Amino acid sequence: MNRGKKIYLCAINNVLSGSCSEDCRFCSQSARYRADIDRYGFKSLDTVLHEASIAISNGAVGYCLVTAGRSLDDRKCEYLSRTAKELKKRFPSLWLIGCNGTADEESLRHLAESGIDSYNHNLESSEGYYPQICTTHSWSERYSTCEAVKRAGLMLCCGGIFGMGESRKDREELIEAIASLRPEAVPVNFFIPNPSLPIGERNIDSDEALRVIESVSRKVSPSILMVAGGRESLLSGREEEMYRAGCNSIVIGDYLTTRGEKAERDRAAIANLGYEIADSCS
Ligand code: SF4
Repeated sequence: MNRGKKIYLCAINNVLSGSCSEDCRFCSQSARYRADIDRYGFKSLDTVLHEASIAISNGAVGYCLVTAGRSLDDRKCEYLSRTAKELKKRFPSLWLIGCNGTADEESLRHLAESGIDSYNHNLESSEGYYPQICTTHSWSERYSTCEAVKRAGLMLCCGGIFGMGESRKDREELIEAIASLRPEAVPVNFFIPNPSLPIGERNIDSDEALRVIESVSRKVSPSILMVAGGRESLLSGREEEMYRAGCNSIVIGDYLTTRGEKAERDRAAIANLGYEIADSCS
């Protein structure tokens, strides 16, 4: 019954980690919360190429290059441009995603010309709830970056995080705001509690998580609806309902600072449900 639906696997590489001066209350990379994570400068090109080859052997068709910090500054832009060119040379069919904070159109255009295919920038929460989760930059900056992504000719990957204390109304407003941007891909994340972070518990259960996925599928209808952070802890054992609700993409391997499921387990679970694993993003 599930035959015909393809599931897209995406891997994340945190190429610059930690020590961010912003105060996003959900993020263990903010220096303010002293979370117990690895912090390091830009990874070497050889390391990124090696890690990309492992992700591809695990089935990844999308590869997201993430940097900690508020914005895509010149240094990051040059690093990403160099890295993207080498990745495309070595793995031409690998879909490359940049996730590097707020950005202007010119820098985003530079990434597009270097081989980056999509840019991920999440709205994170509804505009009304945003001041509860971040005070060092504004929701409108985030929204403007998403608009600049489209003008720069990149595909837009834009989603948010659910379960950070927001109300059901906030969730619906976030989904409507995402829909207004008409992104090609939407990552749906569920907050992962960490004792270092100011947000305590996650205020979402698995039934509500499935309802959120279904609502994103119905109201945004993106080509790619990815269930990302929090999937393992919230929807384990409910994967079939997750895919039926509209999910057609997952993150394989580890997240930015938290461990994910083993890639072979995810692939086996997808095959058991009768879905195909996509062999390219195009
Ligand atoms: S700007 Fe990015 S890296 Fe910095 S605290 Fe916020 S989410 Fe984390």
